[in-house]
Amino acid sequence: MKISTKSSIKSPIVHVGLDDTDSTQGKCTTHAAYRITDYLLNTKSIEFVDYPLLIRLNPNIPWKTRGNGAVCLRFRTSYHEDVLERIMDLVHKENLVATGANPGIAIYRGETIPYSIRCFARKALCDVVSRKTAEELAKRHEIHFFIDGNGQGLVGSIAAIGTPLHEDHTFEAVAYRKQEKCGTVRKLDSAQVVQFDAETFPYTFNNYDKAHHRVLILPHGPDPVFCGVRGESAEVVCSALKKLKISEKLEGYMVFRTNQGTNQHLQNEVGFTDIKCYTAGFSQCKVDSRPTVIEGGHAMFSVKDPIGAVVNAAVYEPTDMVNIASKLVVGDIIRIGFGVRKPSAKHPRILNVEYLQVLETMEIFETVNPLCLTCNKRMKSEGTNKGFRCQKCGLRDREVKKISIPKPRMIETKVFVPTPRAHRHLTKPIHRYGMEKNLKGTSEINLWSAWFSKT
Ligand SMILES: [Zn+2]
Repeated sequence: MKISTKSSIKSPIVHVGLDDTDSTQGKCTTHAAYRITDYLLNTKSIEFVDYPLLIRLNPNIPWKTRGNGAVCLRFRTSYHEDVLERIMDLVHKENLVATGANPGIAIYRGETIPYSIRCFARKALCDVVSRKTAEELAKRHEIHFFIDGNGQGLVGSIAAIGTPLHEDHTFEAVAYRKQEKCGTVRKLDSAQVVQFDAETFPYTFNNYDKAHHRVLILPHGPDPVFCGVRGESAEVVCSALKKLKISEKLEGYMVFRTNQGTNQHLQNEVGFTDIKCYTAGFSQCKVDSRPTVIEGGHAMFSVKDPIGAVVNAAVYEPTDMVNIASKLVVGDIIRIGFGVRKPSAKHPRILNVEYLQVLETMEIFETVNPLCLTCNKRMKSEGTNKGFRCQKCGLRDREVKKISIPKPRMIETKVFVPTPRAHRHLTKPIHRYGMEKNLKGTSEINLWSAWFSKT
């Protein structure tokens, strides 16, 4: 454990980044953020300038906690000199950081976020960044920090600070359980969730997976989250949460502004010659080999980028996109969002397809017997090189040949995404295409009054 030296920079905005306080014992980064926010809201002269941000980082990094989520709290305060010490006191007193986790807590003071911190955050979203880089950045910008375990949490805590999230974003109202309830079964009638989904969709989403009859708003672990409602505004997610008749007495809820459901990790176009393991991006490419469906129901094929580099791609069975992928043929032009899987002894480097957009389809043909010139019926073959015969009028023709006719493709030129239960936090649901929003040109965010509640 270490606490870095005090900063000499004075500024009214304080940015607190938190990461990796999760563990299998039921601690959770967003809950630590909830407790810290509760404490801050009860402190004089603290004014939040944004909703707490829940930033999902590169989901392809294997050593990350499930969800790979980091949080940033941004607020103005005149008492910022000892804010880290006060937050650290709280973290220890409330035991908010689990043993065995690798937490990082970082504090930056400044009116705006420096460019290099924003670049670091961009990289943490779709690439691998080291703790060493994070530490250097912290030194250079006088970021106070606390780390424990292997210190990997510093990466996420600084990345959360460096994500202003001015581009597309969504909201999540997360409801927390009282400590004595953690670990017990969450009771919520699924019929109620179905109705709730019908009433609030598309302004809330990923509540219920209709195809597989699964409630998606309840987690299953021992963590303190009772449920989380995702949607397009703070008002919508709060009022939707209140519609659910939850019988369990809860600790309260908090609204996060988040990059969930935005595909923010897939914004960089990547060529296949320089793809690295665990990175994410998108590419416009050509299907280079016809997909085959292998054991387990996964579709495997190869794709070629515009400069001719070829790589293997996989569409996995749980995504429910295999029936679409298996209709692709060589030459089809597609755009795919993907994460790069590490090569193993058995498999080479593979792109795990996260969405598939069919842009242009090749014409395909089938060969059929010729038509009878008299009655326009399809003729029958008399055998190899023996010509054809019409079964209706009996006309024989030794000269006619089989003909090639275009075959319907049965694949639409549109975007296909995984089924909701196979969604990652960052996956943009199909209905959100066209609903993207941004805050560019917005000078400040007006927080909705009921974004935090303690019962
Ligand atoms: Zn005929």
